[in-house]
Amino acid sequence: MTQMSLENVTMQFGPFRALTDMSFHIERGEILGVAGPNGAGKSTLMNVCTGGLRASGGQVIFNGQDITRFKRHHRCGLGIAQTFQIPTLLSSLTVGENLLAGQIFGREVRGEETGISMEDILFLTQLEDHLPIPAAQADLLTRKRIMLGAALATGPEIIFMDEPLGGLNAEEIVEFLQVIRHVREELGITIVMVEHKTRALAEIADRVLIINFGEFVMLDTPQVVLNDDHVVEIYLGK
Ligand code: ADP
Ligand code: MG
Repeated sequence: MTQMSLENVTMQFGPFRALTDMSFHIERGEILGVAGPNGAGKSTLMNVCTGGLRASGGQVIFNGQDITRFKRHHRCGLGIAQTFQIPTLLSSLTVGENLLAGQIFGREVRGEETGISMEDILFLTQLEDHLPIPAAQADLLTRKRIMLGAALATGPEIIFMDEPLGGLNAEEIVEFLQVIRHVREELGITIVMVEHKTRALAEIADRVLIINFGEFVMLDTPQVVLNDDHVVEIYLGK
């Protein structure tokens, strides 16, 4: 079942077009990988979905509602969350306070309790032992888990994750992929993740979207996409 659709979405920065006529659907409960060369428009695409940017043209539809012009906090209130390439945390606060801040923000923008309990968040992110630690002192993987936990605390139906594996070593990647998988499996939350590491995408994604020069290239299963001649050429050609 379609949860979000983009219909002919265009993003213009002055004379530069970062996204051109982008159209595709996101299915409820899927893990959708997004890949493409540097500067392809992946982060821009996430931002027009989450409200970090407002599309210059076209429509973003969420649960049947046109949210193209909605601000980020309004979209968050509808259940759309985002995590960033570089963990954005309240670094002077503890790990626990960061999670609470997410929950308070979620309550504020929803106007009601969020549907995800702190117990579930702690179970999924395995942050119990870190709660009193200042967020600034946490290692990179822990900071990523805090950012995901704070996003979960807003009670989302869908989370957009921009390069969640960036900077992690092989062991940490396995660990964080497992956390992401559990978020989908335990809570049924849709995950859209930008990722360069094609092996990780092949492992975790139900479908993979490839974009290049701000244009849609392909959307299919990882097996089909990652073995496609044109996609291989885009990667090797960069
Ligand atoms: P990716 O995440 O795929 O590496 P981005 O979405 O960050 O790519 O950027 C796509 C293109 O849009 C790049 O050429 C980038 O320089 C440009 N761009 C992104 N944000 C802005 C902005 N705020 N103003 C002008 N150009 C931008
Ligand atoms: Mg990017």
